[in-house]
Formats: sequence, structure tokens, C-alpha cells
Amino acid sequence: MFEEGDGSMRSLLGGKGSNLCEMTNLGLPVPNGFIVTTEACTAYNAGGKVLAQEVKDQVAQCMANLEKETGKKFGDEKNPLLMSVRSGARASMPGMMDTVLNLGLNDKATEALAKLTNNPRFAYDSYRRFIMMFADVVMGVSKHKFETAMGEYKAKKGVADDLDLDADDLKKICDIFKDVYKKNHNSDFPASAMEQLYASITSVFESWDNPRAFVYRRMHDIPYEWGTAVNVQMMVFGNMGDDSGSGVAFSRDPATGEDRLYAEFLVNAQGEDVVAGVRTPQPFGELKNSKTMPGIYDEFVGIAKKLERHYQDMQDMEMTVEKGKLYILQTRNGKRTAPAALKIAIDMVKEGLITRREALMKVDPKQLDQLLHPNFDTAALKAGKEIGKGLAASPGAAAGRVYFSAEDAVEASERGEPVILVRMETSPEDIEGMNVSQGILTVRGGMTSHAAVVARGMGVCCISGCEEIKLNNANKSFELAGNTIKEGDFISLDGTAGTIYLGEIKTVAPEMSGDFAEFMSWADCVRTMGVRANADSPHDAKVALEFGAEGIGLTRTEHMFFEADRIPKMRMMIMSDTEAERRAALDELLPLQRKDFVGIYEVMGERPVTIRLLDPPLHEFMPHEDKDYEHLAKLMGKTVAQLKAIAVSLHELNPMMGHRGCRLAVSYPEIAEMQTRAIIEAAIEVKKSKGFEIVPEIMIPLIGDEKELQFVKDICVTTADKIIEASGVKIKYMVGTMIEIPRACLIADKIAAEAEFFSFGTNDLTQMTYGLSRDDAGRILADYTERNIYEGDPTARLDQTGVGMLMKMAVAGGRKARPGIKLGICGEHGGEPSSVMFCHEIGLDYVSCSPFRLPIARLAAAQAAMDQKKED
Ligand code: PEP
Ligand code: MG
Repeated sequence: MFEEGDGSMRSLLGGKGSNLCEMTNLGLPVPNGFIVTTEACTAYNAGGKVLAQEVKDQVAQCMANLEKETGKKFGDEKNPLLMSVRSGARASMPGMMDTVLNLGLNDKATEALAKLTNNPRFAYDSYRRFIMMFADVVMGVSKHKFETAMGEYKAKKGVADDLDLDADDLKKICDIFKDVYKKNHNSDFPASAMEQLYASITSVFESWDNPRAFVYRRMHDIPYEWGTAVNVQMMVFGNMGDDSGSGVAFSRDPATGEDRLYAEFLVNAQGEDVVAGVRTPQPFGELKNSKTMPGIYDEFVGIAKKLERHYQDMQDMEMTVEKGKLYILQTRNGKRTAPAALKIAIDMVKEGLITRREALMKVDPKQLDQLLHPNFDTAALKAGKEIGKGLAASPGAAAGRVYFSAEDAVEASERGEPVILVRMETSPEDIEGMNVSQGILTVRGGMTSHAAVVARGMGVCCISGCEEIKLNNANKSFELAGNTIKEGDFISLDGTAGTIYLGEIKTVAPEMSGDFAEFMSWADCVRTMGVRANADSPHDAKVALEFGAEGIGLTRTEHMFFEADRIPKMRMMIMSDTEAERRAALDELLPLQRKDFVGIYEVMGERPVTIRLLDPPLHEFMPHEDKDYEHLAKLMGKTVAQLKAIAVSLHELNPMMGHRGCRLAVSYPEIAEMQTRAIIEAAIEVKKSKGFEIVPEIMIPLIGDEKELQFVKDICVTTADKIIEASGVKIKYMVGTMIEIPRACLIADKIAAEAEFFSFGTNDLTQMTYGLSRDDAGRILADYTERNIYEGDPTARLDQTGVGMLMKMAVAGGRKARPGIKLGICGEHGGEPSSVMFCHEIGLDYVSCSPFRLPIARLAAAQAAMDQKKED
């Protein structure tokens, strides 16, 4: 029963149930009832999906107690007790299972209710609602069948509004509804109240397994094992006349966060009418001077404030007034927009209601995305036509004209057009086109595919892995859901949800209030883990600082080689036949590379900067078009045929597991030499010009063996020391490695003997631990999530069980061999809240992510620090 629990029992009673208990204990007017616990749901799922006799017995006992308390009887012919049944998981899952109201009605009980209330219209109205709801929610007979039957009745009678139906009409409609039920369910509508109740409880447990619930749990990281509780509560009636009604209310404005009651109310209606929008509610403020419900307004305002103080959070409440008496049916922490979340958290600190630390816990890090990227205009979105879904690879909203190649995208952008770049998948060559686009859409790819990683780094909205698209590059068009979209046509992308819309939907720029900076500064005071950014250019570095980066955790040097003035030199280097030729080409790349690093150091000052040596397979830099081959042939004094033969020789069957990372430096030491030279010479130059003490961190990718690390490190150290000595400038540097091959985790102690730092490259570490291509994961994982094999996408959310286990081993091995070793992460998981929290737990020194995800990482790191403190 409700008095027996409180907020500390949330996991057993569910959120709704424990709040009902707390409100009862606070002395608020809550209709009594009882809760079937989440344990019963777990037992139901484990026990062959039958409601245990023990549960049935306890339910019957609770009903007997309620009957005793009220003097009414469940399903009685004289004085019927009516109940409602609602689901209530530990975390709020709105709309997971609809509510069933008016349980306990049958022909006789309805007759009795009509007599007792002297209100037959009300009784039959309740009965017809119950038949439809029970049939729809519990027995799977669609409510549309009932709505159609009712519509036909109204049409025959020539009335439009439900309120024009009298008691007789409603009684007839009840009979029609029972017929509809029988026809569709091949049995009579159950008259036994206990049968109705048991079926409803079972149905709530079943709803834990419905697809909507799976999707919701996946989105909000709710474990399946939690199960749902069932709240069984006595009915109160808002549809008993003009002195009755139902309403929903937020204690503050959920859109803006303003401190004002935000409530809607319907006179003579049940709660579902307000929620379903059957009739337009009136503003609650109109009740202030109500003659039929005097005092209700003030009473409710008082309760709302009391609940807000009690829960120290904005509340979302449901109320019913029955014959002038107010009841509170539910309260929970209200959902709110990101700006509202921030405002409420900050206001509550100012009001002295909560501390700064508590405020930090009230904002979901993921929600901060809303504040950092454009969103669709809400009104415009309503008119939008959804045509498909893909992976929500990079957040924000974008509308633009469709182009199918990076060149066309650049040209269109130069004409001033907003651009959506549509590609089968993207490659480094597309960088310029991606950079000028408002949004990127790819047919293939997962959450750590090229498109996803690069778009997030640029802060450009991106949907990847939309496999339903039939792309026709030759015709410059694609087909999706029966629509043909041609070059120049408008589409709109929601990169936060992964939804594709036809046509142009207006977007609105994000608003960053002063609240944001203040709130983030609180997070920075609390977190103990450092935050760095993945940044490949001075521009990215500047953006990173604006978003609060304390250093750079990853500079992918390969991104620097794709610019138009550099790619031919890079290609000359790759297409060289001899070391001498290669060195000549590298000599041309050196000043460009050095300039990049000077630019980055100048922006970052003395903050740490980790620069990674060349990582991708060389064939990624190959020319694709004949004109590029011809140009290169001229530059190099070779024939096109010779160059094509070299290209063929470099082709790999499985390039992601092939000639890349440190293996390039093993085969071509001169590449690592040139890059080290650029890193060190740039540091010397900036020390001389600006006086900054720069300690570059040289990072070697894809290490799986200590000897290969030794080999490449030797090249770096010999090169660096020689330059430093010759320069006469004292400069320190570090050499470390990425940990992205499972073997490196297993032998981390040996690797740490050589490496001064580890940075977990969890994109590759996940790919290689699962043996799942990050570039094709989207297509494959869609089947896995649909079939509930994986609850989440491990390329987006770190798999703490498997990949996490390897990371823990690497942390332990690394620290054992080198106690002060610096440990970080630079895979995409470094900007995902649950993964950031895991990194804190296993003791990493910092996380590094794309600049636009830094606020998320900062808040998640703060929350992790507070969680740990609580545990300690
Ligand atoms: C990684 O593998 O996690 C990583 C950061 O490197 P990249 O994404 O460039 O392979
Ligand atoms: Mg990698």
C-alpha cells in the first residue's frame, strides 16, 4: 500500500509508485492504492511469463484492504470500487504503456454507479471509456475500431460533440462496444473485476517487451533487467460535472525554465482527455476565480511549490478535482528543453534550494547538444515530411540542396547555396566538400566511420548508414521511400535523431546564454579528469579552446595532407620508387607540416598537444581521376601507366588491418623522420618567437608489439635529439602510443616500458575487439539492435564489458611498468557521457573528443567525480 514506501525504494516501487508513497507520507491528497513491484516483473519475465499465484494472492489481499477502508467493493452491484492501472518503471518512460482507467466496471456495477452518483451519463461515459481502453491496451483490439463505431453512432444521431450524447446514447454505445470487442476477440468482454485486474497487470509486464520500450530503453540507457512496477490506484473522477475536472501542470515552464506554473485544465473531463488533446484545455489560471471549484487554484499552487521543494526539482504533476475536492495523481521530475534545464538548475541554486553540485547532477550531458547546434524551428518541423532514418552520427539540424560530389558541393557553396552532401560513404578526399556543407548524408557507415568522425569534428550535422537510399551517382539523384531526389533539390536532416525530411525546413541557431558559461565553470571546479580536444588545425584548436579544451589529445596529421596544394606532394611521396625520391617529396611536405604545428602551438600556448604520426593506409591518398594521374605523371616525370601500376601494387584487400599506422613507419622510416622533424622544429620556433615552453607529445599509432614501438620510437628520438642539439634550444618532448589493438592491452606492461603515455583509440580498439568494421557497422548493427541482440551501438557507446575489460588491463599493465604514465582516450567515446564516466572510473587522466562535444565531456566528468565521491 502507498504509505509503506518512500523515495529510497524507487528501484523496487518504480518512479511513479515511490512518488505516490512519498506524497502520501507528505500528507498530500493522493487516492490510495498499492504497487506490484519491479521484482514481480523480473520474476514474470524469468518465470515463463505467467503471473505467479503469490502475486495474485497479494493483489487480492490489497484489494480486500482497500475495500475495507472505503466500504466499497470491487466489481460490486451496489457500491462498486473502481481502480486505475498504470506502469511505472524506475526511470520515467513516458508513453511506454497507456493507462487503464475505470477497472471494475461491468453492466451491473455501471448501473449501480449511475444510481449512487445520480448521474447515469457519467456512469455510462466511464463504462464506454473503460471498454475501449481495456480492449485496446490490454487485449490488443485497436481503439480505432471503437472510435469508428462511435463516429457512426454520432453521425446517425447528427451530433458532432461527445458532450451532445446523453446517458441513453452512451448506454447504447457501451452495448455496441461490447459487440465490437466480441467480434474482434472471439469472447465476451470480461465482467469479472479481478480478471480485469490480473489481465491489466500482466499487460503492463508484457509492455516492458514491446518495441517502443526497447527503443526508449536503448535511447536512455535503461537496462532490461530493471523491469517495471504496476501502480493500482483508486479512481477519482474528473468527469462528474462542472465542479470536477482534470489537469496537468509543470511547476516551472518546461520550454524556457521560467519560474511560473505552467498548467492546463479541462472541466468535466478525465486526465486522458487533457493528454490526448480531445478538447482544448483552458489555462489553469482561469480557475483562480472559479465559482464551481473555489480554492482549488490556491491549494494546487501550494502543493506544486511543496513538491518542488521536496524533490528539489521542477515537477510534472497530474491532478483531478472530483466534486470540488483536489487529488494529486502523480508527480515526477519534469522533462524540459536544454535551455530550461540550465535555467532551472541555476535559478534553484540562486534560490538556495539546491547546491551547485546538485545543480550539476540535474542536467543530462547529452542534452547540452541542443545548445551547441542549430535545431529545426518547431512550427516548421510539424509540417515536415519524414522520408527516412539513418544513424544520428553528428547532431544538429540542417536544410540544403543536395549535391553528390565534394567538388559540386564546393561550387554550390561558392554560389551561396546551402548544401547537403550525399555520398555512398565519405573519404578524406571529400574534406573540402564536407566543410562547406550544412549537412552530410551517407548510405553506408557506422558511428565511427569517416563521415561521422569528421562531421563531429567540424560540428556539421551528419546522418550516416541510411541503407534504404538507392544512390544513382551517374544520374545525380537518389531514391528514398518512393521519392526521387535530384541534384539541387532541398532536403533537411536532423542529425540528433537521424531523421531525413523532404524539402526545406527552417532551422534556428542555438542560443548560448550566460547561464551556459556559468554552469560549465561549476562543472570544471568539480571534475578531476582532464578534457582535451581532437583538433587537426589551428582553426580547430581555436574552437577547442572556446569549448573549454585544456589541451589537444589527438592531431590526425593525415587530414593536413588533403588540401589542394598538398595532395600532389603527398602523392609524389607515395608514388616514389626509391627512398631518395621519397625523401625529396618529403622535403617539400616538411615546411607545410611544420607551419601547421607552429599554428597549433601558437593557439594552444603551453597546453599539451599530442600529435599522431601518419596513420591511414597510403592508398587513401591515391588519385582517382585520370586528370589527377596525368598531372602527377607530369610532376614526377613518369608515365600514367607506371603510376597506375604503383597504385595497383599498393592496393590492399583489407586496408584497415593492413599497411597503416606504425607499420608505415617501419616500412618507410623517412616519413616518421620528417614528421618528427616538423613537430620538434615547430616547437623550437614557437619557443623562440613566443617564449612558450612546449612539450610536444609524439604519438605512434596502431602499436601491437613492444619491438615495433621500440623501432619507431628510435627514429623519433634520434631525429628529435639531433635537431634539439643542433638548435641549442632546450626542449622536452614525449613519445607515447595509441592503444587500439587488443594485443597492446594484453602486453601493456611491455609497451609501457617504451611509451611515456597511452591514448586509447577506442574506435579501432572497438573495431578490432568485435572484429566489426567501423565503416560498415551501421548496416550490420541495425539488424542487431532490431533483434535485441545488442542494446546499444558499441561504436558510439563504449562496450564496458569487453572493450572496457581490455582497457582496464592496459591501465593496470601500464601503471605497473611506469607508475606515472599519462593515460587518456581519443576515440569518439571520449565525448559520450557513459563512456566518459567509465574513463573516470578506471582512472584515466583525460578524455579527448571533438571540440563540439567538449561541454558534454566536461559535465559527464563532473558527474562521474561526484558519483565517485558519494560512493567513497
Ligand atoms: C581511434 O582509433 O580511436 C582513433 C582515435 O583513431 P582513428 O579514428 O583516426 O583511427
Ligand atoms: Mg585509430
